[in-house]
Amino acid sequence: MRIFISGPSGVGKSTIIKEILKKRPEIVLSVSYTTRPPRPGEQEGIDYFFVPMQSFEKMLQSGAFLEWARVHDNLYGTSLEWIEKKEREGFHILFDIDVQGVIQSKGKGSPGCFILLVPPSMDELARRLNVRNTEDPRALALRIENAQKELAHWDLYDYLVVNDSLEKTIHEIVTIIDAYRSSKDLVIGELPWLRKIG
Ligand code: 5GP
Repeated sequence: MRIFISGPSGVGKSTIIKEILKKRPEIVLSVSYTTRPPRPGEQEGIDYFFVPMQSFEKMLQSGAFLEWARVHDNLYGTSLEWIEKKEREGFHILFDIDVQGVIQSKGKGSPGCFILLVPPSMDELARRLNVRNTEDPRALALRIENAQKELAHWDLYDYLVVNDSLEKTIHEIVTIIDAYRSSKDLVIGELPWLRKIG
């Protein structure tokens, strides 16, 4: 099972993802490749696979990525080999990728449950970003502009979850994931005998 979660900066995505992973240990977070240097505390193979630009470009040319994107001058990509290995090991995978990544993954026919996290309003998102970024109004304006561009693609997603209260939002997403697990396509894929009967 593949779960894709997108949401603009400031919507609370990282906190929500952490809580979902705690509640559903059979789900792992996809580890992307990136050309950005590690931040203090980040670990190779856990947060990202940190690679030089040349290696990333080689992977790109050989079709190694399900999807990739340039975010703030750094490249990020999801390795098909990594996903398939985890799936063979029996894990479900949660992807924290932006809308460009969702467009590419869908374009390549990846199955999955696509969830967009939405702020209660643009004013509320601006307020949350403002709390985080008090001293830089230009960066704030850019984040709001980017958020608007991302949210404009709401129609690509299966579910739009409004993050107005953290606990309610986490509960809603876990409920969606549990229901998706029983969706016709997923179940029939795992029960060849049932497919034969139909
Ligand atoms: P950061 O550098 O702060 O870890 O991530 C920056 C942004 O890149 C986040 O919004 C995150 O969702 C996005 N991102 C991380 N990995 C990938 C990936 O593999 N593909 C895509 N499309 N976006 C990614």
